[in-house]
Amino acid sequence: MKKNIENIHSDLLNEVVTVRSLTLECLATIQEKDEEIGAFLGIYDEVFLDEQIMKAEAMFATGTATLLTGIPFAIKDNILVKGQIASGASKILEQYKAVYDADVIEALKEAGAILIGRTNMDEFAMGGSTENSAYKVTKNPYDTSKVAGGSSGGSAAAVASLMVPVALGSDTGGSIRQPASFCGVVGLKTTYGMTSRYGAMAMGSSLDQIGPFGHSVRDVEIIYQTISRYDKRDSTSLTPERRVFTSKHKKVIGVPYSFVKRDGINAEVLVNFEESLSKLEKAGYEIKDITINHLDKILSVYYIIMFAEVSSNLSRYDGIRYGLSLKGENSIRGYFNSRTEGFGDEVRRRILLGTYVLSAGYYDAYYNKATALRNFLRKEFAKVFEDVDVIALPTSPVPAFTIGEKHGDPLAMYLADIFTVPVNIVGVPAISLPSGMTSSGLPLGFQLIAPHNGEEVLFTVGKDFEKTQ
Ligand code: GLN
Repeated sequence: MKKNIENIHSDLLNEVVTVRSLTLECLATIQEKDEEIGAFLGIYDEVFLDEQIMKAEAMFATGTATLLTGIPFAIKDNILVKGQIASGASKILEQYKAVYDADVIEALKEAGAILIGRTNMDEFAMGGSTENSAYKVTKNPYDTSKVAGGSSGGSAAAVASLMVPVALGSDTGGSIRQPASFCGVVGLKTTYGMTSRYGAMAMGSSLDQIGPFGHSVRDVEIIYQTISRYDKRDSTSLTPERRVFTSKHKKVIGVPYSFVKRDGINAEVLVNFEESLSKLEKAGYEIKDITINHLDKILSVYYIIMFAEVSSNLSRYDGIRYGLSLKGENSIRGYFNSRTEGFGDEVRRRILLGTYVLSAGYYDAYYNKATALRNFLRKEFAKVFEDVDVIALPTSPVPAFTIGEKHGDPLAMYLADIFTVPVNIVGVPAISLPSGMTSSGLPLGFQLIAPHNGEEVLFTVGKDFEKTQ
């Protein structure tokens, strides 16, 4: 199978391949490779696959095919596809079948894409390694003793190992960008409100965004153009008039060096980051040292706001409305039993901490302070973006780590999110681009961050960066 959407599209148009043969090729590759990698939790049922193939073939036959018609997608298992299981990689939703399509799924279906199956992730997207999945750990295709990253590790690994050309993930604090960097693919986190959250399992509602994985900037751009649209079913979806963006085209890249050069950043990551900047400098960009005040407090801000939202969002899994339902001597015990059996350790930890930071007496000390700092950081970013087109950061301070290395040490795991969480807190878009390899052959990622609605800038600078590779 060819890697890129436009190449596959021209093969489909010229009948070098058919939608059916392409789908079967993906299924065969999954069959061959996925026992080792563990990217998928399930393949969608045959009737559904067949329906999609027939629809896509009809679109080619009638000349109504889009660039995504017939393109096989893997879908992170927290995105609802009507009639199919969506477990969020949790035991509590093991048998849960979605009763409607997420807006992004409706958009892909309208475009004639082929949804192949659901990918592994950290339970309810909480984690950075897929080790928190209730089912299995996804392995890094470059070295199977390493994690694929997370929480969208299954989607990243599926694309990297060519089981599918493209996939969808979700990003609350880095869950698209970090696994993309660990697996050597491109991952895009959109501006908050750009893609609808309707039909995405809520983790941190003020942070969550769905976005694409692909092998090139152009691929994620094509998917972005299809899935980013106003949806009145998501109250935070941006209306068309709020999507406007005017680019300044200054060709200036801001780098908060004092934030990047910190304890804990891997030496090879730092060298690769600096080399990436020099390449862009040679391509005509000016690199500017910038300061973002209080950015060093970002992990505390994220790990308060996100916990608070998690504790509130996950109260819906009560053993009555969805999924696993265990009995008890009274309804409170039933609720208790379902949640104890259904949730894994990390999910429980976050619900407890979130309940704590929201409780009377602590709300002001934690949640309100974090929110105040969030507003401050938004202004700081806005100020910086007056002078630069994009901000550059490494995607992750470390390359893919060994399976088990950080599992069981939540703080070590949280620290690794330092470069991705600012983007979600501020609500801006960002892209992770493959930027080379470590000496032991693990992929590294380079991250570009644009102002609100500035996805176009990410695509422009991202393509310039690709040319330097
Ligand atoms: N690793 C981060 C966390 O555990 C981000 C997760 C995400 O983006 N879903 O919260």
